[in-house]
Amino acid sequence: MTAGRSDDLDAAHRVEPGAAPTIGAPYLAPDERDARIEALAGRLEAEPLRIGTSVDGAPLVAVRVPARGDGPHERVLCTANIHGIEWVSGLVALGLLERLGRDDAAVESLRRRAEVWVVPCLNPDGYRRTWERGGDGRLAELRANSHGVDLNRNYPLPPGARRLALPGAGSNTPGDATYCGVAPLCEPETRALHDLCAAQRFHAAAGLHSFMGTLIPARVRTRDAWRAYGTLCRSFAAAQSATRYRRLASRWIDAWTGEQEDHLHHGLDCWAVCVETFPVLATLRQHLRAPTRFWRFNPRDPAPWIAQDVEGLLAYFLAALALPRPSAL
Ligand SMILES: [Zn+2]
Repeated sequence: MTAGRSDDLDAAHRVEPGAAPTIGAPYLAPDERDARIEALAGRLEAEPLRIGTSVDGAPLVAVRVPARGDGPHERVLCTANIHGIEWVSGLVALGLLERLGRDDAAVESLRRRAEVWVVPCLNPDGYRRTWERGGDGRLAELRANSHGVDLNRNYPLPPGARRLALPGAGSNTPGDATYCGVAPLCEPETRALHDLCAAQRFHAAAGLHSFMGTLIPARVRTRDAWRAYGTLCRSFAAAQSATRYRRLASRWIDAWTGEQEDHLHHGLDCWAVCVETFPVLATLRQHLRAPTRFWRFNPRDPAPWIAQDVEGLLAYFLAALALPRPSAL
């Protein structure tokens, strides 16, 4: 190969700052994502609500989908993209909004019983950074907010719990991929979500991520809560048409990390599960060595994952609504 050809190849793979040539449809640029949220909300006769502002000044948007009928109802919550690079999770959240506009037994049953809140992008600055860099960069850069904080390590630990020095449990070192920030809820994004949850008292929540193909419930130690999460995870998986995700948890080994699901369960009395879309095997099948970090976390064709995980979410919410709150179990 001549030097000239080699230069051409380099040029073809170079990502210019400000351009984003490597991420395209069906993934959505930040502005396209916001337009899609607005359009889906309009179709559901729901208004997008601004629940806060990111470090860089982007709105944090929630869509409140009203319940049907006049009877008493609970509220449930779905959040996504707390990690900037995990774009498929945002598409699953948008898929849920789309699905809630359809009329079938599962949607009717859920909307008769609950108002559904969806926050499709909890980390718009990390999302935009991922876009601007064409999906390539260090994990810490693409995952964190604009203070370099891993937002899913920035929630308070339950009273008396402490963070163990385990991989992934959250780091006190700025620049690390799981840097937990100077104090719990010190970041505007986590503070906004906490305030929303405190005000709305959600009965159940799902936080969407990628990749792994697992369900990670809040860490619980009582037998009843452990069993309840077993039921909830099985309900989710049973509704998935192709690849059923399994619960990833241990009653004894799991560590406190400052993750959202633990805070929602122990701090806000809400059933809470983290959903990791896109299994490890599927991403390895897609690329043994991904061309950019983006394609490790996100499927080239997200449609089948969106479809089956949205069904899982509907089933999970319905199963959680059949339970009393965690404190009443
Ligand atoms: Zn994540």
